[in-house]
Amino acid sequence: MLHSVLNYGEYQQDVDEIGSFVYPIEANKVIILDFKYVKDSLLYKGVYTEDYDATKENKYLYRIDAGNQFTFSPTNKITTIEKAVKRISYWFQKFDEYSSNKLVNDVKQIIEKHVEEIKIDVQTKFDSLGKQDKKNCVITFMITENEEKKYLGDIKIFRDIFKEATMKEFWVPKTPKVNGFCYLCRKEKKIARPREPFSFYSVEKIGFAQNLDRSESWKQLAICSDCALLLSKGKRFLDKYLSKKYVWMQVFPNPKTNLQKRIDDGSVN
Ligand SMILES: [Zn+2]
Repeated sequence: MLHSVLNYGEYQQDVDEIGSFVYPIEANKVIILDFKYVKDSLLYKGVYTEDYDATKENKYLYRIDAGNQFTFSPTNKITTIEKAVKRISYWFQKFDEYSSNKLVNDVKQIIEKHVEEIKIDVQTKFDSLGKQDKKNCVITFMITENEEKKYLGDIKIFRDIFKEATMKEFWVPKTPKVNGFCYLCRKEKKIARPREPFSFYSVEKIGFAQNLDRSESWKQLAICSDCALLLSKGKRFLDKYLSKKYVWMQVFPNPKTNLQKRIDDGSVN
């Protein structure tokens, strides 16, 4: 099954590295905080909404950690306005080490300065939405610089932070450093166990710990970073095109295809 997902990943060559780690959002509306540079000063210009557009996932740059504690970019889903604005402020605290970057620091400062005004503006915009839109609403921000409007995913520093934070969380134990044979491509490379996109075993059961040492259990599925990237891309393909929900259970029908053969003979690239 993993090899099939790997094949789907190879097929997704137009998905870049960031794109394979961004989470899709089921949303109707996006509330956008509007910031604009005038000369060298960043100004808060208010709030507006747009319809959620799934083709802009890489621009919204949404991803949340496994413990549901923080997002990897300031974009987050709205449950209450208080929580949503707090999550944005928390993002700047969590990634404070990057506040030496002028843009990050400017946004942090302007949000701190206008936080009460922002809460009121977002609440007013949120209250004007329909019932379904309120249930499926996301908050993010745009920065206009030199008359060019940019989403978070268009701005290098936010992409860099997103990628670095994702990689820190992605591997067990940490980034691949140990030499070994990758379970998927069978090549000798640096290997580790990715936490995503699937968790295949439990350390609660006897037999899942190499050398009877729980800390070695990551070796049950040790793969290289190239294969991990392809798996993540393949999982996105499954999510988009082959995901079905039966009652509460999500299943991925995995049709037998000749995709690998077509990749091998070059008819799919
Ligand atoms: Zn590999």
